[in-house]
Amino acid sequence: VRVALGTGDGAILRRADDGTPRDRGLEGVVARITELAKAVIGDDHDRVAAVAMGAAGPLDPKAGVLYDPPNLVPGVVPLGPLLKTSLQLPVFLENDANVAAMGEWRFGGHGKTDNLFYITVSTGVGAGIIADGRLIQGFNATAGEIGHTVIDPNGPVCNCGAHGCVEAFCSGPSIARAARALLAEDGNSLLLDLAGGTIEAVNARTVAEAARRGDPIAVRVFHEAGDKLGIALVNVIHLLSPEIIVVGGGVSQNGELLLEPVRQRIQNTAMKLPARGVQLVTAGLRQDSGLVGALALAIDRSNSSQ
Ligand SMILES: [Zn+2]
Repeated sequence: VRVALGTGDGAILRRADDGTPRDRGLEGVVARITELAKAVIGDDHDRVAAVAMGAAGPLDPKAGVLYDPPNLVPGVVPLGPLLKTSLQLPVFLENDANVAAMGEWRFGGHGKTDNLFYITVSTGVGAGIIADGRLIQGFNATAGEIGHTVIDPNGPVCNCGAHGCVEAFCSGPSIARAARALLAEDGNSLLLDLAGGTIEAVNARTVAEAARRGDPIAVRVFHEAGDKLGIALVNVIHLLSPEIIVVGGGVSQNGELLLEPVRQRIQNTAMKLPARGVQLVTAGLRQDSGLVGALALAIDRSNSSQ
């Protein structure tokens, strides 16, 4: 759980974070979030316009409820209403990737644009769509689930049960899995040394480190992940015609190691006109895209609900 008190121009004044107490159930989680939020609000309760919150979907932003949140409890979880009561403030809930997209759009330093596509590549792969100057939610408020769009029906199985989803190729765990599979065939690798000699200890971080040092297996795995991300983003370019594509999440912190094959794929296969002038960049706010995005969302939603 990460919380911040900030202003409408995206400045964070105070922040706090702590683990999610999963063993204490919904009550414990609400208590922890409340405690952290009250700590950053301090004596400024009267000056706080609203609370905005990003959480992993699926969720209903209007009702402020989560559906079967994987990190909390099963069922319909009314997190928004519960926090509204405990904090005595308006609370707005939104998908975490959408919130991060808002942060990068308003405060990420990418210039003024009406068309920005944000994709996070981390434990999972998700996205937030800003199109023609607004956040796109869709009929069931689940737009942007790019992680589970299929780019190879014969590809590896995904967490969702389908084969060849973007997430099954590009997420941190998928990168580690691909590297472990190659290591099992040919264990003679710097990558294995970096993981202390055990294949099971290989993770996305060790793969990235080995790739930077030129290890052939690691280079190949990162190139493959970047290329698959590129295929996904060519589809995005054709579908939405974004001006700026922002890549965030832990895996994106490897910069050009991931983005170079994406650029190649876009250059080689995207249609000329929608791809012309499209910028591909990493998140300007790095790990704070979501926190700063929540500030933007709090301002927007409290203005439109008045
Ligand atoms: Zn999937």
